[in-house]
Amino acid sequence: MLAGGSSSGIGRSGSRRPRFPRIPLTHPSSSSTQPNSSSSAPACTAFDLAYFQAYSDIGIHEEMLKDRVRMETYQDAISRYRHLIEGKIVMDVGSGTGILAIFCAQAGAKKVYAVEASDIAEKAKEIVRANNLAEKVIVLHQRVEDVEISGKVDVIISEWMGYMLVYESMLSSVIFARDKWLKRGGLILPSHATLYMAPVTNSIKYEQCVDFWNNVYGIDMSAMVQLARQCAFEEPSVETIQGENVLTWPFVVKSVNCYTVVAQELECISAEYRFSSMMDAPLHGFAFWFDVEFNGPAITPVQGSHYPLQSSLLDLSTNESANETTNDSNRQRKIKSNETIVLSTAPEDAPTHWQQTLLYFYYPTEVKKDQIIEGSIKLSQNRENARFINILLKCSCGGNTLVKESVLR
Ligand code: SAH
Repeated sequence: MLAGGSSSGIGRSGSRRPRFPRIPLTHPSSSSTQPNSSSSAPACTAFDLAYFQAYSDIGIHEEMLKDRVRMETYQDAISRYRHLIEGKIVMDVGSGTGILAIFCAQAGAKKVYAVEASDIAEKAKEIVRANNLAEKVIVLHQRVEDVEISGKVDVIISEWMGYMLVYESMLSSVIFARDKWLKRGGLILPSHATLYMAPVTNSIKYEQCVDFWNNVYGIDMSAMVQLARQCAFEEPSVETIQGENVLTWPFVVKSVNCYTVVAQELECISAEYRFSSMMDAPLHGFAFWFDVEFNGPAITPVQGSHYPLQSSLLDLSTNESANETTNDSNRQRKIKSNETIVLSTAPEDAPTHWQQTLLYFYYPTEVKKDQIIEGSIKLSQNRENARFINILLKCSCGGNTLVKESVLR
């Protein structure tokens, strides 16, 4: 998901999912703008308003709806859990144009609350009416944190994933809705998420962004090289890479169980990684991607949470041997041994609008086959704007130690 038109101050190029404005309208500390109908609801800041403003742009919704991998996986999941949706009450957290809410209504839901804070909700109302679903699909043009409905819901569906999974920090709104509105034993779609990272080589990118300046129509423009390096590699880059760019098997940075995760867990994610390169190549940086799974409702109560777990489904995402990839009518998806439905944004899978997120070094480091690449990664919500992600990467490789700090904004 996520948004910000050309007027947002964020470049939107090609199929890239636009981001919301970098510069908020006012400082959030002075701007708890909306009265909260629930005392436990977090304040709506100027950053949030800018975020919702970005989602009122048509472009991002068009891009999401045209992402067939995304759409078809959600359709498959709704179809898989039709028996848990039929005759039930559903909440679509962040319903955008209302598409997932409508799918759930078509799958037989008794009632669907389509909760959308941005102005696109007004269009969703029209779309629902045009499809004769106004009796079933109730569009609530509100933040989910401020919604009041009568009674709890059986199912929560949401498409909350941002770049690098955690950009936008929308999962905390799903957690809020889960804790307030989901019935015990209810279904959450998707149910699990995993963020991966892997070292990558990408000489073409360096040639295009840096080496290009050495000879421009026969002119030596190498004076630009340093600036080009700075501009191209200072911030994380959302782009599509190929499986061949990846030097070795990925590492799981974070696994999330949507039935049990708490918001504090997402404020700061840190992990220590260790890779062994599978080839001789220049190491240019690291790629990040994620997948989400659509598992059934939990059945076993877990200590410390009233959300039960299905233990057999837990941590499957870290078990690479349980994965296999199939190619079905031009869309790839990972089918786990238990036929879990997976929406993957991995480089080896069919591309999605999320692409991959790349953290490039300013200078490459040569690595040999079996050489160890190790270090740590820390992803923390930006203090000013929790929807932005501060990234601290430390990497040791062949006697070199690199530290890279950047912000995904
Ligand atoms: N479900 C739609 C849109 C997904 S994009 C689809 O699949 O096409 C995420 C949407 O969630 C955006 O439209 C955004 O405005 C909305 N959103 C994000 N946080 C929200 C919140 N706290 N309350 C209500 N809507 C929210």
